[in-house]
Amino acid sequence: MTQRDYYEILGVPRNASQEDIKTAFRQLARQYHPDVSQDPDAEEKFKEVNEAYGVLSDLEKRSTYDRLGRAGLGDMNGMPDFTVDFADLFQEFFGFGGVSQSARRNMPRRGADLNYQVSLTFEESIFGGDKEVSYVREETCHSCKGSGAEPGTTPTRCSTCGGRGEVRQVRQTFLGSMVQVTPCPTCNGRGEVISTICKTCRGRGLEQRSVKRVVPIPGGVDTGTRIRLAGEGQAGINGGPNGNLYLEIQVQPHKFFRRRNDDILLDLKINIAQAALGADIMVPTVDGQAKLRIPAGTQPGKTFTLKNKGAPHVRGSGKGDQVVIINVEIPSSLNTEQRKLFEQLGTTLGSEVRPQERSFLDLLKEVFGG
Ligand SMILES: [Zn+2]
Ligand SMILES: [Zn+2]
Repeated sequence: MTQRDYYEILGVPRNASQEDIKTAFRQLARQYHPDVSQDPDAEEKFKEVNEAYGVLSDLEKRSTYDRLGRAGLGDMNGMPDFTVDFADLFQEFFGFGGVSQSARRNMPRRGADLNYQVSLTFEESIFGGDKEVSYVREETCHSCKGSGAEPGTTPTRCSTCGGRGEVRQVRQTFLGSMVQVTPCPTCNGRGEVISTICKTCRGRGLEQRSVKRVVPIPGGVDTGTRIRLAGEGQAGINGGPNGNLYLEIQVQPHKFFRRRNDDILLDLKINIAQAALGADIMVPTVDGQAKLRIPAGTQPGKTFTLKNKGAPHVRGSGKGDQVVIINVEIPSSLNTEQRKLFEQLGTTLGSEVRPQERSFLDLLKEVFGG
């Protein structure tokens, strides 16, 4: 037995918390463990550290030691009564002992999630509807029901581990016998061995199968929307639950509609006379044609809103709007009569020019937030 002060051995103050004592002990034990340390006195120091920890980690013994010193612990001759959690300690240092790995191998595990893309037309994304999707996933093997053994045969108990899935090895150390527990190498921790492997799945217990599902797509989805189908992913292992299937929506571009959140945008060209004089025109919407009144003097970049002609809100009720963005088309070629009329118009408008206040491009940027 050491004569040094226990607090000094562990390098902690007398008012150290139990947690600090444990931390200090772990550090020193790691440092002086004779299997690891090169220090010739390692074994002696390790024993000393253990003895100090054996006392200070026990609240009752610690208080006796604080009041009476080593004399108070008079009955501690021979090997002290340690309550060190060696399994825990050795697991941490050397990766063995402690929790058996075999228990984990046979535990039910959830199947993996699957991700698939689904391509929709613009109209399908707005109105939703049932969409058939087919994909490949792993399912529990239909011939062996997941056991991995050919039907008609049964797995037999592993003779190496007697069905426990783990093997124990006794290791002699200076602290006494240590039991080392490792997963059984014969059965890989399963506790049973398959003599005749299932031909369908080659013993995996899973097989690839193509499945079809009719998925109700809600109206208003957009590129990037994910739809979750619980339990439609890969099969679970050892009776665990299936993973989920995630469908990611990809919307094909439309000839003239675009999405901005739940609004539908439409770029519309009108001619210079319609812009100057005003007109009632028919514009396409996802619900069919709708009348739009263009007032006289409409400038390029002007937007008009058709209420509730947008995409339905996926969550909650209601719809977005359709936003019509006006561009004015300047004729690129004129016939003789048109040329004459424009020349007359030119005379009445005069030749005055003025700096542009806002360009069409600026307005577009504002509309699209670019
Ligand atoms: Zn099988
Ligand atoms: Zn075994």
